[in-house]
Formats: sequence, C-alpha cells, structure tokens
Amino acid sequence: APRMVSGAKAENDDLERHLRPQVLGDFIGQARARENLNIFIQAAKDRGEALDHVLFHGPPGLGKTTLAQIVSRELGVNFKATSGPVIAKAGDLAALLTNLEARDVLFIDEIHRLNPAVEEILYPAMEDFQLDLIIGEGPSARSVRIDLPPFTLVGATTRSGLLTTPLRERFGIPLRLNFYEVEELELIVRRGARILDLELDASGAREIARRARGTPRVAGRLLRRVRDFAVYAKAKIVDAATADAALLRLEVDARGLDAMDRRYLTTIARDFSGGPVGVETIAASLSEPRDALEDIIEPYLIQQGFLQRTPRGRLLTPAAFAHIGLTPPAGLGV
Ligand code: ADP
Repeated sequence: APRMVSGAKAENDDLERHLRPQVLGDFIGQARARENLNIFIQAAKDRGEALDHVLFHGPPGLGKTTLAQIVSRELGVNFKATSGPVIAKAGDLAALLTNLEARDVLFIDEIHRLNPAVEEILYPAMEDFQLDLIIGEGPSARSVRIDLPPFTLVGATTRSGLLTTPLRERFGIPLRLNFYEVEELELIVRRGARILDLELDASGAREIARRARGTPRVAGRLLRRVRDFAVYAKAKIVDAATADAALLRLEVDARGLDAMDRRYLTTIARDFSGGPVGVETIAASLSEPRDALEDIIEPYLIQQGFLQRTPRGRLLTPAAFAHIGLTPPAGLGV
C-alpha cells in the first residue's frame, strides 16, 4: 500500500490539482522563497526579459511544481513540464526547447536524473540560448547550432547536492524549500477544507496540520481521508476527535509518523542499538531503496529531532527512543 504520509506523488493525487494555489499571493508559507521570487519576477517583467533560471530543492510535496506553475502565471508566459528521466535523448530535449516561445517557463522535475548526454546540451541552452546538435552519424555527421528564444528553466530536485556542479551553477536563482510550520499547514488545511466543502473546526484543522509531516501534499491527503471518515461516521463538523479517530485508523501517530517511519526508527533502535549505522545497512535491513530513505523518510525525522546524520552513520536520539517507547542503551552513540 502507498504510504499515506509520504510526500511522494501517488496516482490518486489528481485531486491535488484543485488544491493547488494559482498565484503567489495564495501560496502559504515559504516566505523567503516567495519574497525572493516576487522581486525577481517583477524585475524580469519590468525589463521585459526572461526570468533567470530557477532551481527549487527540498523534500517531495513541499510545493516545487506548484511554485513553478505560479512563476509562469505571474510572468504571463506558457508553462511546459517534463521530468529528468522522461527526456531519454538529446533530441527529445531539443524538441522541447525549439518549441518554446520567448520567456516561456520549461519545468524539469527530478532534474538530477537527466542523462549526461542530455545534460551536456542543456548547458549552452541555459547559458547562451543556443543548441549544439550533431546531425547524422559517422563521416557525414555535422554539428549545427540553433538559436533558441530566451527562456526560463525551472528545475526541481529533492537535494541540490544530487546535481552535477556545472548544472547547479547555471541556475541564477536557487531556492530551498523547507518543511512547513504547523501554523502554515493549518492555513493550508483550512483552505483545502473550503475547497472540498468540508466543515472543519479550528481544533480539527490543527490536528491534521500537526500530523501532516510538515508537508502540504500530506496535509491534502490526510484531509481527504478525514473527509471520508467524517461521512462514514456521520460527523457534521470535523473536530480534533474526529480527525484523531480517522488518523489513528491510518496509523498516523501524534507526530505525523506512519508505520514506515516507526519501522525505520525501531530497526535502528533494536537491531543496531540506536546507531551509528550506515544508511546502506539500514536500507538493506528494511528492504527499501536508499534514495527513499534519504529523500522521504530521514529529512522529517531529522527535522523532528529523532535522528542525526553523523560521519559514522545514522544515530537515533533519546527523543526517538521515547517516541517508540523503548529505552535507549547506556552510552548511546558512543
Ligand atoms: P512538489 O513538486 O514539491 O513535490 P507540489 O507542488 O506538487 O510539490 O505540491 C504538492 C501538493 O501540495 C499540491 O496539491 C499543492 O497544491 C499542495 N501545496 C504545496 N504547497 C502548497 C502551499 N504553499 N499552499 C497550499 N497548497 C500547497
């Protein structure tokens, strides 16, 4: 079963589109990124130029795609979206780039997963708006240079460290997205409830927000499941008790951790005495890909003070032991 509290996209997230804020003014949270974007967008518009290339980095579900769409809307230009693994060949990227109009936004999700041959032709495209292509093969092969309209590349990645240095350096506007505060998620949940036509009181909104793992995508998903539960329980107004009953059924605990998070913590606690233990070892022990641990599970546990990354590996904190109801070994982490 897909994880309820994973920030990663899932198939039934189509409903998400309804919850997406459309303009910068409706986007809640990420004040720093929002203010910076606002300034750069206004400046680009005043000059009639393409906005400099933007890189959003941060855990899944925090609003990277949403902000990319907002950028194009605020600029009044077209929005084209693709993702790193989808662009198989240099020719695929060339086709995308040559179809852009001046100042358009091209959004590349998971940009760290571009194939190196594709990345190579992206460099001159970003820097000089030029495409250098090799046409044909063998002795008759020749290179052609095509001028592109000035455009804005908006890239998204979970960690900027995953990008090669030359690619990272070509983004003039790198913006980091952080986990949301509970108060911000509360506003997002209330807005979602209005859109979904759900009667939610302040205590209910707060309960969902507290358990949304700092992530708007999770908040939206929990809100929809709570709505289902409210219909089933014939609750007219969703309060904290209704939300709590619904979320317990989903095995989302008071801190927003789900069964997978707790399995991760319990494994380190029980099998590795709380650590430090290497991430590869944990991944093997849980039969989960290392990427999923590093991108989805660990960032929130670190932010919550349950986990530390040390040079010798992952280390649980006493708070983590307390949360899962185990006693830390004497000399934890020594
Ligand atoms: P990412 O690209 O970082 O994985 P998305 O932009 O796809 O995340 O956002 C995931 C979901 O969360 C979308 O449904 C979006 O509407 C919602 N969302 C993200 N940020 C906000 C926000 N600041 N306010 C309201 N909803 C948000």
